[in-house]
Amino acid sequence: MLGANSNLCLNSYLAATATETHQARDKCRVRTRATIRIEMEIGGLDSNGREFKSADEMWREEVGDSQKKLDWYRNGVGYWQGVDASVDGVLGGYAHVNEPDIKASEAFLNTLLTELVPNGGRNQHLVALDCGSGIGRVTKNLLIRYFNEVDLLEPVSHFLEAARENLAPENLSVSEEHKAFNFYCTPLQEFTPDAQRYDVIWVQWCIGHLADDDFVSFFKRAKAGLKPGGFFVLKENLAKSGFVLDNEDKSITRSDVYFKELFTQCGLNIYKLKDQKGFPDELFAVRMYALTTETLKKVGGSRPKRKANRPAIIK
Ligand code: SAH
Repeated sequence: MLGANSNLCLNSYLAATATETHQARDKCRVRTRATIRIEMEIGGLDSNGREFKSADEMWREEVGDSQKKLDWYRNGVGYWQGVDASVDGVLGGYAHVNEPDIKASEAFLNTLLTELVPNGGRNQHLVALDCGSGIGRVTKNLLIRYFNEVDLLEPVSHFLEAARENLAPENLSVSEEHKAFNFYCTPLQEFTPDAQRYDVIWVQWCIGHLADDDFVSFFKRAKAGLKPGGFFVLKENLAKSGFVLDNEDKSITRSDVYFKELFTQCGLNIYKLKDQKGFPDELFAVRMYALTTETLKKVGGSRPKRKANRPAIIK
């Protein structure tokens, strides 16, 4: 996720020079560009600059038995419990990316609704799920305007309470036909949606908290929560290669190749993808994936751009 202030020193995995490794051990907040050496896709680093030979090695250490897994999720949620329930809080001190984020998401969503939903969704009762919703930023600024009902799923109770407040009818500028409906205080790995409830399931800046096995089982369960023709939007930070483990909030940033491998395991197809533009250079690249449960004709969209020397941050 675009995350808290602390997790802004993750470029380190891109380079393995002694200096950079040393720098990665500093508790810096923001890291600027580093020399990039593309690592093997399978390897990764953590936020202290430690190298892992494979994702398996890292997952064994982090979630290798049931106690470790409990700790992983407890620490992940624990991290966010200490963060302010504000836009700046959920965006890791980068409140100003809210606007370009919403703008790009809206353009992407519009295209998808036009192409995938009969009549662009007009005159239909549309329902969305906002996963890892935080304080309801995405729902309030985007989803509530397009969907008649939006459910929010968020494991951190003070975020969900803030969302409830932010999305109370008197604090919204949409008609009564658009409302935030259910507020689930549950983590993704424990959630099973009602069958065929949703036109769109939006997953932004939270899937990094899920271990691979829970990632796959979540999407497999959630597929049954989509209406026929419904789709997922996954908007996430991208590692240049492999993965970056954030030791502080217990999340990982995956590469495009890593995501694609998981999508295959989930039985999901990439219908379209689009890169976020207009974010500060020091942040991780951000990509939006529209995922469908069946292969549809139109695949692709804007091609991922490989920008040399463009490390990113966030989390
Ligand atoms: N999607 C929101 C919030 C991003 S911040 C937005 O874009 O504004 C990351 C969010 O992921 C936090 O609200 C955090 O509580 C949530 N999160 C952490 N662990 C999670 C888990 N296991 N399942 C679902 N959400 C989780």
